[in-house]
Parts: sequence; structure tokens; C-alpha cells
Amino acid sequence: MGRSVLVTGGNRGIGLATAKAFAEAGDDVAVTYRSGDPPEGLLGVQCDVTNPEQVEQAFKDIEEKQGPVEVLVANAGITRDTLLLRMSEEDWADVIETNLTGAFRVAKRAAKGMLRLRRGRIVFVSSVVGTMGSAGQVNYAASKAGMIGMARSIARELGSRSITANVVTPGFVETRLTDVLPEAQQKQYLESIPLGRFTTTEEVAKVIRWVASDEASYITGAVIPIDGGLGMGY
Ligand code: NDP
Repeated sequence: MGRSVLVTGGNRGIGLATAKAFAEAGDDVAVTYRSGDPPEGLLGVQCDVTNPEQVEQAFKDIEEKQGPVEVLVANAGITRDTLLLRMSEEDWADVIETNLTGAFRVAKRAAKGMLRLRRGRIVFVSSVVGTMGSAGQVNYAASKAGMIGMARSIARELGSRSITANVVTPGFVETRLTDVLPEAQQKQYLESIPLGRFTTTEEVAKVIRWVASDEASYITGAVIPIDGGLGMGY
């Protein structure tokens, strides 16, 4: 029987690729989605991570249908990019509430079941921006850096129960966002990446799946870059 896996924000992008990777390996996978339809073949639970009641309900549904969450991928995230002096309190709060508080909320709820199971894997999807910083992303970088301190604290608190907490820091991922960048800008970004290309959602998904696997049982509190070398040394 597969493990019970939850990927937040698993209806598209990195989250969907990750959910599919776990499902291909035989795990039972639930994904959260906010609007539209859940992806086919996965257990879709409607949930906005900024809403504590919806998070609680989502976990209850998952526990009923596929058992307590043994692997949590805290992936849901947003950006509200603008320069510091133009950044509103709302831009700041929305990003922190979704990316950091939302991840805290789901990790706390998942940990409850993992403590009972006496095993578990928590993977936070941060960003290279969380360690390097990025002009125009003060809120986003702060939220993604916050995940690192959170994961390392959880790793210390729950390690004795065989629960690991790790962070992955993807760099530029090939998405619709990178596709529409002007050619000159794409070239400039590519020049800063030692591997000379963007990554794919599938490449990111495989690393997340691995860090949640038995093969990575002695890795906790780690920050694992998936960035083609972009963030080396940070
Ligand atoms: P997408 O924008 O494609 O997907 C974001 C996902 O998060 C969607 O499923 C979205 O759901 C969900 N989401 C957003 N807000 C909430 C919320 N309040 N409650 C529940 N779900 C929410 O992003 P990516 O796949 O590109 O990114 C996924 C993660 O990876 C993010 O945390 C991002 O910061 C990080 N990342 C991305 C990089 C990139 O280059 N793309 C690079 C480094 C890190 P819905 O569809 O309902 O809005």
C-alpha cells in the first residue's frame, strides 16, 4: 500500500508534477486546489491555506479517504512583486500569509498525525530567492527564507520521532512565466545559471520525491538547491 501524501497547490505547476511523481511511485496522493476542477486521478480537496477551517476540513477528508498524511509537500505559493518603496502592507501580508503562515498551518496539522505514526516527511518548497534575495521580491524572499528557519526548527523538534523536515530551493523553472519573458531577458538569466538552462517541473518533482523517500532517511533540516548552480554559495 502507498503512503498518504498531501501536496498543497497541487493542481498545476510544480505541485501537480510532484503529485504525479508520487502517484507514479505508488503512493496515495491528495492535492489541494482552490477553484476549478481537481486534477484527474488524484484526490482533490478544496482548500485555501490561508483559511484555518478549510485546512482542518481538508485534513479530515484526507484522513478519512487515504489515512493520516505521512508525506507533506508544502508547495502552495504566490508572488506580489514590486520594489520596496512601492510595496503595500497588503502585498507584504498576502505573501507572508500564504507562503509562510500557510506552510506553518499545514505542517502543524500534518505533524499531529505523523507523531502518532512515529514517522513522516515534510518538504517545504522554498526558492533560490529565499537565500540570494531578489530585487522586487522583498515579501517573497522573506517568506521563502522563513521556511528555512521553520523547517530546521521542526527538524529539531520532531527528529526523535523519525519525522524529517527539509527545504528545496528551486531556481528558474520552465513555466508559462519564463516562456513569455523577452528573449534578451531570458538570455541574461540563462547566463547566470552554470548549467545554462532553466529547470523543469518534473526535475523539481523528482528531487522532492527523493527527499521524502526511504533513500533520504538520514537527511533532515537540509536546504537542497534545484537551481542549476545559480545560488551556489548562498
Ligand atoms: P503556480 O502559480 O503554477 O502554482 C501555485 C499553486 O499554489 C497553485 O496550485 C495555487 O492554487 C496554489 N495556491 C496559491 N495560493 C494558495 C492558497 N492560498 N491556498 C491554496 N493554494 C494556493 O506556481 P509554481 O508551480 O511555479 O510554484 C509552486 C511553488 O514553487 C511556489 O511555492 C513557488 O513559490 C515555488 N517556486 C517556483 C519557482 C518557479 O520558477 N516557478 C521557482 C522557485 C520556487 P490555485 O491554482 O488554486 O491558485
